[in-house]
Amino acid sequence: VLSTSLFAQGLTLQYRCQNTATSTQSMNPHFNIVNNSGSSVAMSSLTIRYYRTKEGSAGEQFWCDYAVVGSSNVSASFTTDYVEVNFSSGAGSISGGGESGQIQCRISKTDWSTYDQSNDCSFDPSVSNFTAYPDVTLLRNGSVVYGGNCSGGTVTPTNPPVTPTNP
Ligand code: CA
Repeated sequence: VLSTSLFAQGLTLQYRCQNTATSTQSMNPHFNIVNNSGSSVAMSSLTIRYYRTKEGSAGEQFWCDYAVVGSSNVSASFTTDYVEVNFSSGAGSISGGGESGQIQCRISKTDWSTYDQSNDCSFDPSVSNFTAYPDVTLLRNGSVVYGGNCSGGTVTPTNPPVTPTNP
């Protein structure tokens, strides 16, 4: 269900596909969060939800290869349907009109078996530059503020793409 109140939050998630291989041991989505809310937003209030299916039963592991907010302030958790990227208080805040800067993520399975990225809702190998991208969801304090809901291989938009504008 579309909600104009979501727009009022003024947050946009940008995505870039750094590993375009269909079959791979490592998923490498990169993100950037743009804040046009008009006020400062604490990174620790934000969660990025990247929808993927995990082939096989092995556990997963996460690395932040680089982040402007500090890679040590970035962590992840895993569910059947998605990977959630979270930020500690050390990541600071995004000022109004600002952006987080690059957040370079890398995810592998503990046994290094391959993923099939072609069936992952949030994967799009055609996105090579940072682009507002609603197939990855951004949450603020646990509520979706940007992006869609992917279930069973189908993306249900909860908020259409927002073109960032400078205040
Ligand atoms: Ca998959």
